[in-house]
Amino acid sequence: MWMEQLQTGRKAALMELTPTWAEAARSPDAWPLPWGRTAQHPSLLNTCMNASCKTSWLRLWRRRNVPRFEGQWACSQECMRVLIEQAVERELGDGTPLEPKKHKHRIPLGLLMLSQGWITQEQLRKALEAQREAGGKARIGAWLMRQAGLSEEQVTRALSMQWGCPVLSLTGHQPEAVSTLIPRILLDTYGMVPLRNGSSRLAYLAFEDRMDSTVALAVERMSGIHIESGVVTASQFMRVHERMMGAAFPKTQLMEVKSSSMVAREIAAVIERVRPHQTKLVRMHRYFWLRLWRTPAPALSVSGSQAGPRGLVPRIHQVEDVLIRLQPED
Ligand SMILES: [Zn+2]
Repeated sequence: MWMEQLQTGRKAALMELTPTWAEAARSPDAWPLPWGRTAQHPSLLNTCMNASCKTSWLRLWRRRNVPRFEGQWACSQECMRVLIEQAVERELGDGTPLEPKKHKHRIPLGLLMLSQGWITQEQLRKALEAQREAGGKARIGAWLMRQAGLSEEQVTRALSMQWGCPVLSLTGHQPEAVSTLIPRILLDTYGMVPLRNGSSRLAYLAFEDRMDSTVALAVERMSGIHIESGVVTASQFMRVHERMMGAAFPKTQLMEVKSSSMVAREIAAVIERVRPHQTKLVRMHRYFWLRLWRTPAPALSVSGSQAGPRGLVPRIHQVEDVLIRLQPED
């Protein structure tokens, strides 16, 4: 009886000394685990996604599940750095310029309206002259409204023809419902406002006067939502843009760097500090937009076309954004 109690007691003490998988998982940093990279169930084993990873299974830098970068786990800070550098290279290599193009191949708006019979050659000539005298201030559409009595709707319609995109309706626009789609700085820089109906997997980007497919594609890749671009009248845009700017946005950090290697370095530093559950990088002209999920994130795909069912618009406190503006020295 007494021996039995002693044995039971020793057994309990022994069990306390031996970490079980469950105990190790509860306190990830408490137990050094020389036999593997992770204490997780074997089916959830993390594999370093750096193809040139040199870390041996016995020389562990640290056992951890976060941070994750674009769905990938890395075994060390060095390996994470390689993944980030590859992503920065991928974003730079897509061929889109740092500055939006001037789109010289588009039919000029004035000529388009002339061809529609909305204005005469004389009206167009006078409007162009006034625009030139004013030093290019105000767009040709504005001059034609002033001088030739065109309506704002006609100018917007001409814009939609010029860009081959629809005229969007702003009825029921809820700034708070779309403020996690795109950082405020980017909305302001590229003159756009996001619109969305309910929880559909489709959102619209209303542009002020020039559509930017590069920008729309970046938003699509980041959100996993299909984005359709269009134009709205100038006065509608001003109204809705102002309301949008008054909305609450996710926390955003802005920095400026001079080279792409510095972009990668900054991203690596942010990822080490925030240790996000998920991270994704897209480029919008000279802005590298890094989104960090502070809570377990939905499945992401690099192409953005297969975001999971919850991968729609995140809630404001789930994410934070880092914008790294690349401004190379001449
Ligand atoms: Zn590695």
